[in-house]
Amino acid sequence: MMRQTIPLAFAALLVGVLLFGTIAKSQTNQGAPIEVMEKEPEQPQGEVKKSDEEWKKMLNAEQYRILRKAGTERANGEVYKQFKKQGAGTYYCAGCDAELFSSKEKFDSRCGWPSFYDPSKAKNVKLDVDYHLGYARTEVRCNVCDGHLGHVFTGEGFDTPTDKRYCINGTVLKFVPDAEAKDDKKEAAEKKKAE
Ligand SMILES: [Zn+2]
Repeated sequence: MMRQTIPLAFAALLVGVLLFGTIAKSQTNQGAPIEVMEKEPEQPQGEVKKSDEEWKKMLNAEQYRILRKAGTERANGEVYKQFKKQGAGTYYCAGCDAELFSSKEKFDSRCGWPSFYDPSKAKNVKLDVDYHLGYARTEVRCNVCDGHLGHVFTGEGFDTPTDKRYCINGTVLKFVPDAEAKDDKKEAAEKKKAE
C-alpha cells in the first residue's frame, strides 16, 4: 500500500508544479491588455454559448467583468494607450473571435476609449437599449457570443461618414495587424540592419 502511495503523491506534486508553471506563463503573456495575434482567428460558425463557469475559465477577470457583466474599463488607461498606437488591422471579439471592427473605421474621438464610426462586420454586432445609468443608452453587444462591448452614441457632430461613435472597451478586443503593415515593419527593420 505504502509503495503505491508515494509514487502517486510524487506524480501529483509533479502535475502541480507543471500546472503552476503554465498558469504563471500565461499570465506573463498577458502583458498588454489587447491581445495581438499574428493572423486572423478562425471565424465562429453560428452562435457561441457557454456557461458562466466556462466564461470565467476562458476569460481573464477584466474581460469577464466587461463582456459578461456589462462592465466598463478605465478611461485613458493602458488599453487606450495601446489602442491609439496600433496601426492598420482588424479587431476581433475576445470572447468568440468574431470580427467586429477594423482600423478603417477607427477615429480619434478623444473620449478615452477605443472609438469606431461603424463595425467592420455589421452582422456580428447588435444593439440593445440599457438603463444602467438611469437613462436610455444604446448598448453594443457581440451578436455571436452576446458579450457586452460598449455603447454607441449618435449625432455628436464628429466629422465621420456616420456621425456615430461606437465607444468600445479595448479589453474585450483582439488585434491582428494587417499583413502589409507587418511587411512594412519587416522591410524597415531589414533596411535598418543593412544601414
Ligand atoms: Zn463575441
